Amino acid sequence: MPYKNQVVLVTGSTRGIGKAVAEAFAGQGATVMIMGRDLAAAQKVAAAIKAKGGLAEGFGCDITDFQKTQETVNKILDIHKRIDILVNNAGITRDNLLLRIDENDWDEVIKVNLKGVFNVTKAVAKPMVKAHRGKIISIASVIGITGNAGQANYAASKAGIIGFSKSLARELASRNITANVVAPGYIQTDMTDQLPDTVKQKVLERIPLNRLGSASEVAAVCLFLGSTAADYITGQTIVVDGGLVM
Ligand code: NDP
Repeated sequence: MPYKNQVVLVTGSTRGIGKAVAEAFAGQGATVMIMGRDLAAAQKVAAAIKAKGGLAEGFGCDITDFQKTQETVNKILDIHKRIDILVNNAGITRDNLLLRIDENDWDEVIKVNLKGVFNVTKAVAKPMVKAHRGKIISIASVIGITGNAGQANYAASKAGIIGFSKSLARELASRNITANVVAPGYIQTDMTDQLPDTVKQKVLERIPLNRLGSASEVAAVCLFLGSTAADYITGQTIVVDGGLVM
């Protein structure tokens, strides 16, 4: 149980990759904070983890709301006194070509994927700095590295996460806090279920391992980056994509 007594906050953990990450940390003894906008959904995931003997609590919080995010993190700190690992996972897509994308689709994606990461990280970094330890893991995407037609807003937000994390890595290293990014390719979740079959087929043709990834395969890399085995790794982006980008 390498994560026993460690408190791990995973944003967007009511389903998909975030849920798999939370379950993986809970499976190794961590106390996991499940967070999504939907409190009932977060509590349901936490209850399922507890039913398996794990430690978890659910919180409803829209991470685009700076004040509410601070209050939620404070609530966690009141109860547990610490957050050892933050996994910034919550994210959305609003895909469209540049000439068709409207202002709201741009703003929403930047607000959740980038400002949300800032809001949560700012709240969590303070107690980490005080504790002189911490690991910040943010989920970007290969699209933030390569770009993608129809995803200018999403690509900008995910590239932003990479730059943000490198800055954190430099700024917080003296406090023994690492900041790394996991950039998944195409992972089987609700997000990719929305893709038309023709698009999925084209994507598969470009993936050397010839399949979509699973949420647990992304979780495995988060487990590594959160562990002492990764103590000397910071400012890095680890791609988990079956060989799509190389
Ligand atoms: P899902 O759509 O399955 O889950 C998204 C999660 O984010 C949900 O728990 C949702 O909860 C939460 N969320 C969304 N908006 C907010 C908000 N404003 N405040 C708090 N929580 C929010 O996504 P995936 O699991 O597929 O993706 C997870 C992350 O991985 C995202 O950042 C995504 O960009 C990234 N990624 C995914 C890939 C894939 O192929 N699936 C590939 C590359 C990267 P709720 O709705 O209850 O708020």
